[in-house]
Amino acid sequence: METLLLQNTDQDIARAGEILCGGGLVAIPTETVYGLAANAMDGSAVAKIFHAKGRPQDNPLIVHISELSQWNALVREIPPHAMALAKAYWPGPLTIILPKSDIIPDEVSAGLDTVAVRFPSMRTTRKIIDAAGVPLAAPSANLSGSPSPTCARHTMDDMRGRIEAVLDGGECNFGVESTVVTLATEVPRLLRPGAVTPEELREVLGSLAIDEAVMGQLKEGVQAVSPGMKYKHYSPKAEVTILKGSLSSFCEFAAAQAGHPHTYALCFDGEESVIPLPCVTYGREDDPLTQSHRLFTALRELDERGARQVYARCPSTDGVGMAVYNRLLRAAGFSVVACDAQ
Ligand code: AMP
Ligand code: MG
Repeated sequence: METLLLQNTDQDIARAGEILCGGGLVAIPTETVYGLAANAMDGSAVAKIFHAKGRPQDNPLIVHISELSQWNALVREIPPHAMALAKAYWPGPLTIILPKSDIIPDEVSAGLDTVAVRFPSMRTTRKIIDAAGVPLAAPSANLSGSPSPTCARHTMDDMRGRIEAVLDGGECNFGVESTVVTLATEVPRLLRPGAVTPEELREVLGSLAIDEAVMGQLKEGVQAVSPGMKYKHYSPKAEVTILKGSLSSFCEFAAAQAGHPHTYALCFDGEESVIPLPCVTYGREDDPLTQSHRLFTALRELDERGARQVYARCPSTDGVGMAVYNRLLRAAGFSVVACDAQ
């Protein structure tokens, strides 16, 4: 099928709405990453998402709404702490999981008895949901396993020929997927870090557990609470290794690799002049929001440049840095090496 490239105009947003309403798939911009959307109330439309992405069938989808009032029908009940969280951070890059209502198709929840819901802040996203007239189920619009797309070109690179349309809303503001928190457990639990930080969640919830899949790899045999966290993810074709340590020890390590073909450094802005390898940058060392904005683009750039071996500078895990580290860790297939001299 030919994939239309729609623009951010009222006319094209209406066209996207028609396609979605008719059971088709449209990749849409959001403030986090581009999403691959379908009518969340239509199980057979949602099933096409899994096919287009090559997504494992056991990985549930997030339902996107354009008004707080739409949440009620999707969940069994909205407890007070859930409403408090929504009031604090919606619309925005936060996904809240609660026990689902009967109208959620099995394709959306992938057989679980819960549903993940998000109210995005990007105006264009909300206009598209309004144009469709229904909540939209939308995972990231990448082929399963590769970095999430943060602009229309990357989305088209992955989805051309697989879906009806991509709507170009420019570059995504945050550049990593939403924070996912489940309130379906006794103690609220962070399943995926994002731009809404654990500290911000604790301000409203009081207690918050951090799922062990967030900062590391699940041990064999342990069942993932969030099925998406168990897969290798966000990966460029190159083999990525995170080097923990100072810039000077990174440079020493890099010097030993210099001259090896197709070997790159993934580093912070301004470090290119001292690292003795070809470099791709992913934001400022002291500013995790610039890192989240750049990371997935940088990973795709490494592919475009033919990188086979990549050594990455390790970000701080404070605040939004936790989300950056979580994605980079998966891109690296959990390969982290300490490079400071012992
Ligand atoms: P994506 O759509 O690519 O942003 O991925 C959605 C993430 O949310 C994945 O990691 C899913 O496993 C997770 N998720 C969605 N719905 C649920 C749910 N009901 N319970 C637990 N995790 C969920
Ligand atoms: Mg994804």
